[in-house]
Amino acid sequence: MDEGLKALRAEIEAINRQILALLSRRGGLAKQVGALKDSLGIGYFDPLRESEMLCSILEENQGPFNDAAIAHLFQEIFRASTDLMGTTRSQKLHVHRAPGDPDAVIDIAGIPLGGGHRSIIAGPCSIESEEQLFSIAEFLHGQGIRLLRAGAYKPRTSPYAFQGLGAPGWEILRRVADHFGMKTVSEVVDTRDVENACRWVDVLQIGARSMQNFELLRLVGQTRKPVLLKRGMAATLEEFILAAEYIVLEGNRNVILCERGIRTFETSTRNTLDISAVPILKGMVPFPVVVDLSHSAGRRDIVVPLGRAALAAGADAVMVETHPHPSVALSDSQQQLSPEEFRLFQAGLMPFLNPAGV
Ligand code: PEP
Ligand code: MN
Repeated sequence: MDEGLKALRAEIEAINRQILALLSRRGGLAKQVGALKDSLGIGYFDPLRESEMLCSILEENQGPFNDAAIAHLFQEIFRASTDLMGTTRSQKLHVHRAPGDPDAVIDIAGIPLGGGHRSIIAGPCSIESEEQLFSIAEFLHGQGIRLLRAGAYKPRTSPYAFQGLGAPGWEILRRVADHFGMKTVSEVVDTRDVENACRWVDVLQIGARSMQNFELLRLVGQTRKPVLLKRGMAATLEEFILAAEYIVLEGNRNVILCERGIRTFETSTRNTLDISAVPILKGMVPFPVVVDLSHSAGRRDIVVPLGRAALAAGADAVMVETHPHPSVALSDSQQQLSPEEFRLFQAGLMPFLNPAGV
């Protein structure tokens, strides 16, 4: 090889090493800045400072790289440095399980969930009438079920579909649940309804479509009600956990996480039940994890094996939609269990539940 070329290449390689050493030093400083910003409670990204630094760098640029190229290179360095700051904080979210932390046991108006207390949460997709709810609650109560789910505000894909009874539905839910001494789980979709929900409902459900409604998360975080947070249908577990962090940051640690299936290319189920989410979530956070079998599968014929899989993977509860007459249900009629189907479902899950099978 030409001696001159060889010498130039050697010089470039030496410069690469110097740049790397400088970048590593810069990264180390960025991490220190990140830790300091954590303790001061200020955000990592400071656009004003970045633009000031960039201006002064460009003022000194003598070429041969043009300003656009230099700006591009430094913006990448700034971005990577801000990411590095984030890595220190992401290791210590408020929701994270500290080493040796026991499972959280959530008190649902006297009913414990988590830490070995397992449950079936059951009830209709929607509250349709007092008669409908009473009929299914009476049956479920007879089966030993204590947690009654039912929606009054329904987030429907089509605006023409049944939207739920709204606030009067919650009054029905309370009356019926009180009659049987059951506790209730019901979705709140709007920030304006949180206060009213607290009057009527024992567990505030945040639906999959609202997982990143941050204002709603903050508001339920300001209550002390248990919150059942559903995973968004296209949310990663990291995004799911960060949504729970919004609730906990406001002071409410009564969080229950619910895996309810995610969107994939598969069409034989409504969503794909991500079983691996159960042990991963349980390892990361102390909160109970519930698996919603009905919205995961969207069909009733496989709820027993899915329920067994969920409980075997460590779920603290399974949720299943149950209706006195599924074929005429006003929502999700294809996935709700009839009383007879529920009986078989419960029997199928018995070995994985508490001795009473509930
Ligand atoms: C529900 O549980 O009623 C519901 C609408 O579920 P998801 O938010 O998971 O779709
Ligand atoms: Mn439903």
